[in-house]
Amino acid sequence: MKITKEIKDKYIEYVCVYRARSGFKEISQIPNESTEGELRIKYSTKGGISAWLSEKLGINLLQLKNLEIDEEIKEKKAKIDKVYKKYSNKKTSSKEGIFKFDSFSEFLDWYEEKPIKCCYCGVEEEYLEKYFSENTFQYYRNEDDKARQRGQFLELERVVTAPKDKNVYSKENCALSCYICNNAKSDFISAKDFKPIAKGINIFWNKVIHEDKNLSDEELFNKKVEFPDTNIWEK
Ligand SMILES: [Zn+2]
Repeated sequence: MKITKEIKDKYIEYVCVYRARSGFKEISQIPNESTEGELRIKYSTKGGISAWLSEKLGINLLQLKNLEIDEEIKEKKAKIDKVYKKYSNKKTSSKEGIFKFDSFSEFLDWYEEKPIKCCYCGVEEEYLEKYFSENTFQYYRNEDDKARQRGQFLELERVVTAPKDKNVYSKENCALSCYICNNAKSDFISAKDFKPIAKGINIFWNKVIHEDKNLSDEELFNKKVEFPDTNIWEK
């Protein structure tokens, strides 16, 4: 069997989206798939998850091994794994009943629909990663410094925080926000009242970006942080 784009896409769906490598419990969540018990009985004696995967993809075990070290797949996997980290960190740290995404698949669909920038100030994640990794006196992220562990990535933000029953992680109430906005707004200020503060943070980012001596004029021009014009300000 030749490895086609369809096979690669399917592999990504099974392994990265449905987390098939994590166990039969995860595999059993795939639509139309057998129960965890049935999967265990069928595959545990004949090669486990690798056997299940190669059967599903219609390829042999050697081809499966090659898929797992395929550069294109590794790159896509790294991207999805980053989103998965956001999902699972929040899911495990949330108090019971407030995390309303049904599955990672639902979360990923939600995530991929939106621009990867802060919903309040507009800064792009690409820039945060770069900026907080740099060896600057103020923002240097020392490995031992817990206070500086945040910042590099956009965080999962609950837009509406009151009344209490609306303060949930769901498709409708979530957005991506930078550390500074998330921290400043906390669960105290409404998005509507936060607007002037977000404008200040937008100015901060634009200043920081424009003072970045490593960027060329062209890059600086293109990197202007646009202030979001969205209905978030009505919430
Ligand atoms: Zn922000």
